[in-house]
Amino acid sequence: SKASLRFVLYLQLVVTLGFKNHTKNIFSRPQTRVRALMPGIPDALALFGGQFDPFHWGHAHVIQQLLPRFRHIVVLPSAHPPHRAASETPFHHRFAMVQHATAQWSAVTVSDYDTQHTPSFALHTVRHFHAQYPGIPITLVIGSDQYAVLHTWHHIDTLCDLAQFFVVPRDTQPRTNPHLPAAAHITHCTAPPYPLSATELRADWQATLVPPSVADYCQAHGLYA
Ligand code: ATP
Repeated sequence: SKASLRFVLYLQLVVTLGFKNHTKNIFSRPQTRVRALMPGIPDALALFGGQFDPFHWGHAHVIQQLLPRFRHIVVLPSAHPPHRAASETPFHHRFAMVQHATAQWSAVTVSDYDTQHTPSFALHTVRHFHAQYPGIPITLVIGSDQYAVLHTWHHIDTLCDLAQFFVVPRDTQPRTNPHLPAAAHITHCTAPPYPLSATELRADWQATLVPPSVADYCQAHGLYA
């Protein structure tokens, strides 16, 4: 009868969609399986903040350095940076770009923490994430340009008691900062520098210098070009 035929077709649809979802879950995130086989990744949290105006290959390079070292990586696009003028590109675009660019990495989450906190000092951010990830050590990830001025950060002494720093080299910045508290726990990344900045891209847009998903997003929303 028509009714039973419809029922059979419906069952087929359910089975097909179910299978599709199943295979999608297994195959679409290969890094999940790889990471499950790598118990050596320390149960540590990296906080990587920035304007991401736009997210570019230099940022992706930084995240590549973090993946084997941290089980949790939180990327924080800034809404109210205390040390510089706010970005002209609205937060929701910068947030979306970071989400697209990092979707492939299961260890990475993108946080909108910064939208609720004005101004957002790293010290407050670290306290917030200590409460979210109790007992897990926190490392702030910075480029060597930020390392050169790290001693000027809000309550740097207290910050150094609560968090470590992972410094990623940029161009020719110095690798020492004599003004930091002696207790500061700094790890210098030994990867070679990846010379690229968002300032350059805003001045002279080149879609090949950002991940393809970011380039597509920018094109769809008429950003930078
Ligand atoms: P801008 O040119 O607008 O200052 P940026 O390219 O420096 O932007 P940000 O969003 O300010 O990018 O960077 C966020 C963090 O990433 C900062 O700590 C910065 O030092 C670091 N970073 C950015 N680009 C690189 C790169 N090419 N290599 C290493 N670290 C980088």
